[in-house]
This record gives sequence, C-alpha cells and structure tokens, in this order.
Amino acid sequence: MATPPGVSARDFARALDELRNAVGREWVFTSDEDLNLYRDAYSPFKGEAEDRVPSAAVAPTTVEQVQAIVRIANAHRIPLWTISTGRNLGYGGSAPAYSGSVIVDLKRMNRIIEVNDKTHYAVVEPGVSYFDLYRYIQERGLKVWIDPADPGWGSPVGNALERGGGRTPMRDHWNAVCGLEVVLANGEILRTGMGAMENSEVWHQYKYGFGPLVDGLFSQSNFGIVTRMGLWLMPSPEGYRDGRVNVAQHDDLVPFMETYAYLMNSDILRGTMLLESPLLNYHVTQGGSFFEMPNGPSTTELDRLARERNLPYWSAEFRFWGPPKVIDAQWEYVKEKFGAIRGSTFADGRRYVFPADVDQNDPTLTVALGTPSLGVFGLLQGGGHLGFSPIIPMTGDAVFRAQKAFGRLYAELALPAANQFAALPWSYNPRALVLLFGLPMSRDREQNRQSREIFERLVEVSAENGWAEYRTHIAFMDKVAEMYSYNDHAMRRFHEKLKDAVDPNGILSPGKSGIWPQRLRTNRD
Ligand code: ADP
Repeated sequence: MATPPGVSARDFARALDELRNAVGREWVFTSDEDLNLYRDAYSPFKGEAEDRVPSAAVAPTTVEQVQAIVRIANAHRIPLWTISTGRNLGYGGSAPAYSGSVIVDLKRMNRIIEVNDKTHYAVVEPGVSYFDLYRYIQERGLKVWIDPADPGWGSPVGNALERGGGRTPMRDHWNAVCGLEVVLANGEILRTGMGAMENSEVWHQYKYGFGPLVDGLFSQSNFGIVTRMGLWLMPSPEGYRDGRVNVAQHDDLVPFMETYAYLMNSDILRGTMLLESPLLNYHVTQGGSFFEMPNGPSTTELDRLARERNLPYWSAEFRFWGPPKVIDAQWEYVKEKFGAIRGSTFADGRRYVFPADVDQNDPTLTVALGTPSLGVFGLLQGGGHLGFSPIIPMTGDAVFRAQKAFGRLYAELALPAANQFAALPWSYNPRALVLLFGLPMSRDREQNRQSREIFERLVEVSAENGWAEYRTHIAFMDKVAEMYSYNDHAMRRFHEKLKDAVDPNGILSPGKSGIWPQRLRTNRD
C-alpha cells in the first residue's frame, strides 16, 4: 500500500484509524483490489510510474463525516482527492492528480433533498446519479426534465462542477447551478448565494446573494468539498421536434454559423448542435481526412466532390422543445433564415406531442429527451479515450482555422488516417463552440506515449490560435493551466494565493486545475 508522500507509515496508519472511527471500518478502503477501482482505467500512463495512484479511499455518508475527514487530513497533512461518482471518463475517472492522495468518495451521499416542479429545481447530494434523479422524478410524476450528460451514470454535481454539458436547453450544466453547500478545508460549512442567510426561502431560485459571487470558486477547483447543490431544471415540455439543415459548399459555413449564432442568441435555437459534414464523412471513407491537410485536396476540389456526389458539405440537426405551436413556428423561422443561403436544403425530422412513443434507436435522442442512457458507449469505437476539448469562437472562420491548424499538426506528426477523428464543433455552451477530440488510449506504452505527445502539441497549437481547453485530464492540468498565461499567469497566482489562504495545509485535491498548495508547488511539471 502506498502512503501519501511525506507522511510516515506510522502517521498514515494512525490517520486511517481515525478515518475508520469517523465513517465506520467498512468505509475506509486500503486493499489493492479496492484501490484499483480508484485508478484511471484508461490512463495515458497505464503501466508507467507516472500513473496516478491513490493511497486509500474513504466513503462518508453525511456532511458531518466530511467535516471529520477534513479535520483528520489537516492534522496529519494528508492530501485528499474528492469525487462524486467518479465517472469523469476521458479526464481521469476517479483517479487523483497527485499520487498518494486519499480519495474522498461521496457516492454514499446520495440523498435527493428536494425536487420542485412549480419553480423547477432540484437539490441533490454529490452521490446522486442522473439515473437516480430521473427515477425519483418519474416515480412521483413530477413535471420537470433533467439534462443528463451522456453517458448518464455520472452525477449532476460532479458534471456541473467540471462544467460538463448535455443536450437540452439546460445543457450548460454549470449555468444551471443555483446554491452550493461546501465543506471548507478547515472543516467549516459554507452556503453560497442566498444560502448565506439563515432559513433562506430562495437559496435555489436566486443565484447572487449579496456581495462577491463565490460559487465559481468551487468549480474545477480544490478550495472546498461540495456536499449539496441546487440545480435548475426545465419544466416538462409539451412537445419536441427536430429538423435538419444542409448547406452545399465549403464557404457556406460562414453564413451558416452567423445565422446559427443569431438564432441561438435570440433563444430561438436552444439545444446542443453538432456540426456534421456528409461530404467529409465520405471523404474519410476514401482515405481522406476531416482536417484540411497541407498535402490534401483543396477546398475547391472538395466542393467539386460534394457536387459530384450530391453531398452537402455541412449539415446540422436542430432540436426544439416546448408547446407544439411554438416549436412548429420556431422550425419554420429557422428554415426561413437558413433559406437565405443559396442551395440550402431542409428535412423535417421527428415530431412528438407528449406522452409519445419515441424513436428508441438514437441514443442521442434519448438524452435530448431528458432520459439518462448508457447508449452513447455504442457510438464509441471501443477502448478508452483521452479527451481534448478546446473552446473556439462560434464562427465559420474559426472552424476553418481549426481544420487547417490541426491538419498541419497531423501532417507534421505524420499521424495515420486511422488516428484521425471528427474535429467538428459542438455547442454545449452559449456563445462559443467546443471541439471534442478523443485520443485513443491503450495498454501499449508506445501508443500512449505518442498520444501524450499529440495531446501536448494540440494544447500548444490551440493556444497559438487563441483557444484553450475548457477541462482536462488529471495528467495534463499543469500543461493546460500553463496556457492561461496572461500577465505572467496572474490567474494562476491569484488561484494559488486563495489556495494558501483557504487551505494552508494544502490538503484538498493538490494539483487540481494546475493549482498546487505552497508546500507542493515544486511539483508542477
Ligand atoms: P461524476 O460524478 O459526474 O462522474 P466525478 O465524481 O468524476 O464526476 O467528478 C469530476 C471531478 O469534479 C473530480 O475529479 C473532482 O475534481 C471534482 N469533484 C467532483 N465532486 C466534487 C465535490 N463534491 N466537491 C468538489 N469537487 C468535486
């Protein structure tokens, strides 16, 4: 069994005894068999010394137990790493950024404290999964929808804290958060927003409270352990429909994205869009690339191929939720606006008035209809992935520049066609796009070494273009934080000043988001 660095075996044994007293013997895990579950199954360092390993895990069930854990960790200088359900796949799973941390596994804190279908919010503990919350709502016939991440086995708390996304109008999960309860490093309980007053009636309806807003300090952070979260929900819509918009040629993406941004920012389009390219899909089956390769065909040649094959260059499915007459009008208006692009075509999709028998064959639809699912795994091509996810502007020009920049990188690294994946953007957030890459992880050290190198270059090339990742794997947190370098890393210095003030012993999730406590700062890569 590993001990946390700098902690003697005797001291660690004493700390474990105290943890057992606090949560019960059976909820402190130290065997290799148990601890293997808290490693990243798809680690980019699989089988190598740098692979992050926990020293123990502890699973509290109440906020008082969380307070006790923090106090014990402070007394013995034990690094902790908090997870909710630990399904942070592609970004490290349950594993800590700092090897030797004790995992604080909150999955037993799984109470649903309230679901309100009159003003539309839920209050949950970290161990509540999307499935749990969905079932709770269904069993009681409550008139609200959740917005699951795909896959739905993770927790609303963990996913919102990581600023993950779903597919419905409530897709920006951090944006839906209203009111947190947090255990601070000194064991104190803090309630944010209106929760800062006793007996607030609007803790989960009004976000701001009084004075500086601090909620964001607890997202992607190591300043506290979140033990309760308010989340805004969508009132159950009366209907749903979707439709597809296609535009013919490469350059049509510029007016396409301009129209999209107008409709999105006018609240006429509201869900997540994935930009698709039937033409590039075909091109890939012919040995081509999704990216614009320096030695590949020109866009004029690809435009010709699109015409010959009668394939639209760009395409997207748009989804609508709400009263049938409203969503019908929205779709009509969307067609009218995109109709201004010469050669655009449209296809009506599914249309439901609830309750309805819905298409069961599309796992993305299930999620878009507020039902958690594991179906998305069927869409992945096996194996684990390392997520790379830069944010880019919501413009056609940015998409073109990304295709060119990543194409050049792929050529420079001489990556095989099989190693390429669709680098087309999603709209998980308002006002910006995100590219979601999945670099394949394996048990093969050489392939993983190559993937790590590609990853680092992807981060650098993004930064050269003014883009950076919204979230990253535990093994690359320093690298990504490094890119947020304005004014000699003023942001990182500010984060670390706060860290030293609120967690002077540096016990909470050292290394999270590239934030190290003073005593471990030399640890930075
Ligand atoms: P999910 O439950 O969606 O699978 P995780 O439990 O894997 O999400 O959490 C993702 C990340 O968010 C963790 O690695 C951790 O850094 C952070 N995190 C999760 N839960 C908490 C929490 N309750 N308090 C503070 N940070 C958390």
